[in-house]
Amino acid sequence: MLRERLAEVRERIARAAARAGRRPEEITLVAVTKTFPAAVIREAYELGVRDFGENYVQEFERKQPEVADLAEARFHFIGHLQSNKARRAAELFHVIQTVDTPKLARRLNETGRPLPVMIEVKLSEESSKSGVDPSELRGLIEALRTCPNLRLAGLMTMPPWSEDPEASRPYFARLRRLAEEHGLEQLSMGMSHDLEVAIEEGATCVRVGTALFGPRRRP
Ligand SMILES: *Cc1c(COP(=O)(O)O)cnc(C)c1O
Repeated sequence: MLRERLAEVRERIARAAARAGRRPEEITLVAVTKTFPAAVIREAYELGVRDFGENYVQEFERKQPEVADLAEARFHFIGHLQSNKARRAAELFHVIQTVDTPKLARRLNETGRPLPVMIEVKLSEESSKSGVDPSELRGLIEALRTCPNLRLAGLMTMPPWSEDPEASRPYFARLRRLAEEHGLEQLSMGMSHDLEVAIEEGATCVRVGTALFGPRRRP
């Protein structure tokens, strides 16, 4: 089952990349495993998945010992991160995609571990409460430049939910323009239902849960 779903998602990525004149290797598939047990991470790893997304520090802390032997796995933190959990998150994860305040950046930097990070940008009022307002993006980028252990790779966003994938397009296009303005290369955008639109708009990382693993139970 997972094998077929994974093949389907990879095929969707390849077709969207071809339409956009891009190479599929430019796009990292991050498999979002929140609420699923460690065995699911392992199963996906055995099928070739190397990047995983998790939303909750405590949940991943429980699963991590069971997946610590997956040598090539990279775990991306994609949920809202409170600064009091930053230290633990920096130990557990390889990439933090959701930096949204200078305070959080400083806390992540303090752990002393070299860490690639992305900035989560909030592009709409109704979407989640996390993410930096575009008007404060420049200041946050400057704050990150004073953090020697953090390497800013790019921007991440999550548009408001809509049935219609095309509704995400203006948000994705805006994120791409912001990244260009600031000379940032990576764009984490697109989920199960709108990954094609995200790839057409330049996504370098799509975060896919439901299309791979089916519906989630409540955490
Ligand atoms: C849960 C989650 C996803 C995955 O969403 P699906 O619609 O299940 O693909 C992607 N990004 C973030 C930030 C999430 O919280």
